[in-house]
Amino acid sequence: MTMKVADINQLKISTLLPSPKGVALALMEACRHDDVTLNEITRLIQTDPALSGRLIQRANSASYGTRSITSVAEAVLRVGLLSVKQLAMGFSLIDQYKKGSCKGFDYQHFWSHSLLMAIAMQELGKATRISAPDELFACGLLARIGCLALATIYPDKYDELISRQSAEVPLIELEQLFLKTDHNALTAAMLIHFGVPKIFVEPIYFHEVPDDSCFSEGSRPYRLVHLLYLGKQIADFGMASEAERSEGISELILLGGRIGLDTESFGLLIDQIMQEWQTWVKMLNISSTEMPPPFRKIMNSAVSREESIIDASSLRILLVEDDPASIVFIEELLCNARGHTLYTANDGQQALSMVMEVSPHIVITDWIMPVMSGLELTKALRTSEWGQNLYIIMLTSIEEEEEVIKAFDAGVDDYVTKPINIRAFRARLRAAWHYRKLQESWERDREQLKRFAAELAVSNRKLEHFALTDVLTELPNRRAGMDALADVWNVASRSGQSMAVMLIDIDHFKAINDSHGHAIGDKVLKEVAASIKDIARKGDTYCRMGGEEFLVICHNGSTDAKSVVHFAERLRQHIDSQDIHVDGVQIRTSISIGIALKEVAMKSEDHLINAADKALYAAKNSGRNKVCMALGSQFVSCTANADS
Ligand code: GH3
Ligand code: MG
Ligand code: MG
Ligand code: MG
Repeated sequence: MTMKVADINQLKISTLLPSPKGVALALMEACRHDDVTLNEITRLIQTDPALSGRLIQRANSASYGTRSITSVAEAVLRVGLLSVKQLAMGFSLIDQYKKGSCKGFDYQHFWSHSLLMAIAMQELGKATRISAPDELFACGLLARIGCLALATIYPDKYDELISRQSAEVPLIELEQLFLKTDHNALTAAMLIHFGVPKIFVEPIYFHEVPDDSCFSEGSRPYRLVHLLYLGKQIADFGMASEAERSEGISELILLGGRIGLDTESFGLLIDQIMQEWQTWVKMLNISSTEMPPPFRKIMNSAVSREESIIDASSLRILLVEDDPASIVFIEELLCNARGHTLYTANDGQQALSMVMEVSPHIVITDWIMPVMSGLELTKALRTSEWGQNLYIIMLTSIEEEEEVIKAFDAGVDDYVTKPINIRAFRARLRAAWHYRKLQESWERDREQLKRFAAELAVSNRKLEHFALTDVLTELPNRRAGMDALADVWNVASRSGQSMAVMLIDIDHFKAINDSHGHAIGDKVLKEVAASIKDIARKGDTYCRMGGEEFLVICHNGSTDAKSVVHFAERLRQHIDSQDIHVDGVQIRTSISIGIALKEVAMKSEDHLINAADKALYAAKNSGRNKVCMALGSQFVSCTANADS
């Protein structure tokens, strides 16, 4: 899909569009000039004390760990010109649009969500270094500004659309249907108007459905659009109800994993985002939704909620450990933590054979063991197809922690250091549990996809069959016949094999139509087609060329003049002697056949068909119900009693 930017130059829209005021507007204008200086910008900002304060606060929050900042000039330097401008615009918009005339649009909720997304983007920026945190903050803040724009331009209509949206018909589809644009197209137009660089605008445009963008994998826009998607998921998560949060947490953890964050660090990041969000919401006087509980808590309650629903013994865990004390310890841990089924093995080799037997969900393996180490076990498991989906946790001693990279390279999913910290261990197990749950839903999806693919294949085959089959006679149609002819011709040309074609035309067929009607004519056509099919030899290919004309391609074996003529004569005689009974009428008909053999002088299959056509014409001319063969420029009548 390509980005569709809304046209905001229409008079009605452009005057109603939310736009920054005062200093923010002046900033935007100033930044249009390349020669704007830092001093000018600083002076402009200083005329607005509220903006100055917010900027300084931002500069400090975005750069924890360094010296704190107290002046606007320093703040501008640290945050960067581009971000200053965008922040000023964001703040100005927030101040102006805390309420509005679109009843169904929750302005406070909108800004709260936008701020949360902004802060999420800023923190994700620090974690991934895809872009400067301040730039990403501004992107997050303005990523859904098009929604506000629609509420502002079309207050009544948008109110109606908001109330009509549903799971089946999402808001964006209603926007497109009734407003001929959508919030993403408007966001893009406004951002371009605000001077936001295109490298951000496009990813923002696609951030709700990253798969719609055609960014090449790994490119900067690709990474940005996925980061923005994650930012939005985090914002949705923060604003969601408790039940929705439990529901969505697994996907969030998975997304976190994709940017290289393990469950624990990701959880801490989310908590930090939520905390900063509260600070900002207060500073900007926005009524906020309640801050969600710590991530770990949500995760635990989601697990226990789900675990109480599903079979408590659903996780099969294989513990591979040579130290009896460790086994007892973990056994106790797991028994206390709900009824997972635990199997134990004392070394890698024993584990390998047990894996086959018990097919565990999780393998917890010690590193150093006799016979086969945990590292070797992991590698062995990962080489097999069924070992791909196992969740493998490695137990390591503190001294081995440095070497953990090796374990990850070998294919482990997570590790726990010994002596085992109970809380850390449980957290790892929960992550594994979530992984398992996701995997099950993937498998369901995959099954469904497979079914779709199978159905599609069947209907494709049907379509192909229809495309290549004549409806009336059910013989291959002209297209199929011509394809086959080209193939046979090419093979024969390359290998020097012989081939021949026969053109068959029903005699005085028009008369049958005229005296019995078209419907009966159709049935006669079907009968003749059926005879061709019955009498054709193994190596023959045939088709209906159109009208009452058929083609037989003779290849594979009996393609010499004598056999082809013999076959043609048999067909002609069969039709000639056959009484066709249709709807109580008895009809007799006959066919004429023109034969041509592939000759050295012929340059293409067209020449071959032409020759057969001329032979057919000769057969007709010699009285019909005849077989005629082209030989060079001559025609030889092949039917006894021929009168030519
Ligand atoms: P000839 O011996 O010279 O081949 O005489 P003909 O009447 O068979 O040849 P002509 O080309 O004059 O007429 C062919 C007729 O075939 C005309 C057309 O209406 C009829 N026809 C073509 N396709 C169909 C069809 O699908 N169904 C029926 N019922 N008639 C068809
Ligand atoms: Mg004809
Ligand atoms: Mg005819
Ligand atoms: Mg004809």
